[in-house]
Amino acid sequence: MDSSQFRQAAHAAIDQIIDYYDNIRDRRVLSEVQPGYLRELIPPGIPQTGEKWEDIQRDIEAKIMPGLTHWQSPNFLAFFPANSSYPGILGDMYSGAFTCAAFNWQCSPAVTELETIVLDNVGRLVHLPEEFLSAGEGGGVIQGTASEAIAVVVVAARDRYLAQSKATWAAEGLSEDEIEEKVCTLRGKLVALGSDQAHSSTKKAAMIAGVRCETIETAMGEYKLTGEQLTAKIADLQARGLVPFYLTATLGTTPTCATDDFPSLSAALAAHHASTPLKIWTHIDAAYAGAALVLPEFAHLPATFAFADSFNFNMHKWLLTNFDCSCLYVRRRRDLTDALSITPAYLRNEYSDSGLVTDYRDWQIPLGRRFRSLKAWFVTRSYGADGLIAHVRKSMDCGKEFTKLVKGDAKRYTLVAEPAYALNVVRVNPPPELEIPVDSDGGKEFRKRSNEVTRKVAERINREGKIFITSTVLGKGDESVTAIRVVGGAPRVQVSDLQNAYRVISEAVDAVWA
Ligand code: PLP
Repeated sequence: MDSSQFRQAAHAAIDQIIDYYDNIRDRRVLSEVQPGYLRELIPPGIPQTGEKWEDIQRDIEAKIMPGLTHWQSPNFLAFFPANSSYPGILGDMYSGAFTCAAFNWQCSPAVTELETIVLDNVGRLVHLPEEFLSAGEGGGVIQGTASEAIAVVVVAARDRYLAQSKATWAAEGLSEDEIEEKVCTLRGKLVALGSDQAHSSTKKAAMIAGVRCETIETAMGEYKLTGEQLTAKIADLQARGLVPFYLTATLGTTPTCATDDFPSLSAALAAHHASTPLKIWTHIDAAYAGAALVLPEFAHLPATFAFADSFNFNMHKWLLTNFDCSCLYVRRRRDLTDALSITPAYLRNEYSDSGLVTDYRDWQIPLGRRFRSLKAWFVTRSYGADGLIAHVRKSMDCGKEFTKLVKGDAKRYTLVAEPAYALNVVRVNPPPELEIPVDSDGGKEFRKRSNEVTRKVAERINREGKIFITSTVLGKGDESVTAIRVVGGAPRVQVSDLQNAYRVISEAVDAVWA
């Protein structure tokens, strides 16, 4: 493809993308294809001679679109959103054009320097305490996903804990061999913690870091981790000879968007740390709900992060920035670089050696990295703080409208958790003619019937494909509750889309009841 062919192809691609967005509401939100559909549509092998762009582009509509679930559709109410926007797309376009795998400052100073500036600005936008920004000992870095961010901090937490332990043993006068022996034993005892509502990425990070992982059960109906539960878990681990070194605390859990009780967690950690120089690293995972911290009514929350060592949220979920852009902030950047820095001779250069520049390769797992800050820069400049606040506010209004509708329809629905950050979690009641009392038999029969109909309603809705929702299961065994999650965070979603969703879900309820 030469320059003039690229110009033509790029214009045609952009026209197609604009048409796609303009008409996205008309597409069935959920793909209907069966596994393996694409093999039948794509000829085997690579063509011997190159094809024309028009032929390649034609396959987007014919072969790719049928297999897409339209995450940008206002009828996408499942999981959490994954926002895209035109400024974000432009950022990815330039990043692709420049393709500088800027693992260290010298590779492309603009890539590193823009990332530091943009992350400081975004940190201030979400009202993060200054300690997490680059002027002091902290700083932000863009990771691909929240899971990557959590993997990075678990590795850093493990190494910090081991380093602090080594220092303690050295101060006690132990020899190097003795210390090494003790480190080997300690490694097998380290435990990463998260609540039963924390995202599975904590477990995966523990697997990657080669440490144990245990969950702390939260109270049914509350779904938030408290200091009391943490203290009890620490005591239990210590009684079993195990060593807690890391905790994921969540702002906006995946199942219900609950937020752990930060003040009591902070007090519990302070009490634990009063008895030992070895600190539990606490990470606040706000992958989705962190975007809501742009709103003035949540601006006070980050002040409660004082006990945390690190924080992440995904601009690519709810802040109009195309996947992937997960912002990770740490209180002490040296904790990351101590754990992740490795400098073979071919990576040495005078700038890195001077200690005056940031080499983001030491803040992440891979070496190479894309120019992701460009899209965050374009998005924050194009929308401004007001535009980003308006976007999140609109989703919150959508969530409130859905809450109002289900609360007004007690015959069909019960909210199973406090609605939060535009997410509603509801269960469908059993058919009224069965006249099952909510609390007879400890609520067992009601739950069983409610779980059955809720599951069927969710399956029916997604089979119809007018809207896309996800279901979840809260609690265990006889106590478990199946619920439907509804969250309207796509860029084009309107309050009327949630009114429509309520109608679609209610029609499905009536059909399942019948
Ligand atoms: N943490 C929370 C609270 C989440 O809800 C999710 C995904 O929805 C994740 C982490 C994982 O996100 P990612 O796909 O960016 O790894």
